[in-house]
Amino acid sequence: MNPKTVSQLKTELLAKKKTILNLQELNKNIPAEDEQSMKDVIDRSDVEGEWFTKERMSQHWKVELAQINTSLQRIEAGTFGICIECDAGIPVKRLRVRPDATLCLDCQEIFEKENGSIRLSGPSSSGVLH
Ligand SMILES: [Zn+2]
Repeated sequence: MNPKTVSQLKTELLAKKKTILNLQELNKNIPAEDEQSMKDVIDRSDVEGEWFTKERMSQHWKVELAQINTSLQRIEAGTFGICIECDAGIPVKRLRVRPDATLCLDCQEIFEKENGSIRLSGPSSSGVLH
């Protein structure tokens, strides 16, 4: 992947991380009856997600933060944007939506087929899951 694109995505991730950390802080300080003003803050931010309750939001942010941290680690390790299955490049478009994506679209499709509604146990599992 283009190093310029990587550093661009890294900047975006860091900005998003900062926003989430700020929102978490605000979320802590805003009383429950003042949830409307919290909603306004979120509407103005670039953080994705629907408005639920404070509790649901902090859960959502936790997941997002974990994804961002994983992605930043992968950037540092130089494995960001590379499919763990076939070493193909993961499209930037996809990384913008799911920065923690570790599979290219083809492998993702296979993965979803294998891990779809029917769960089979046995040696057919590829063993690359963490
Ligand atoms: Zn792949």
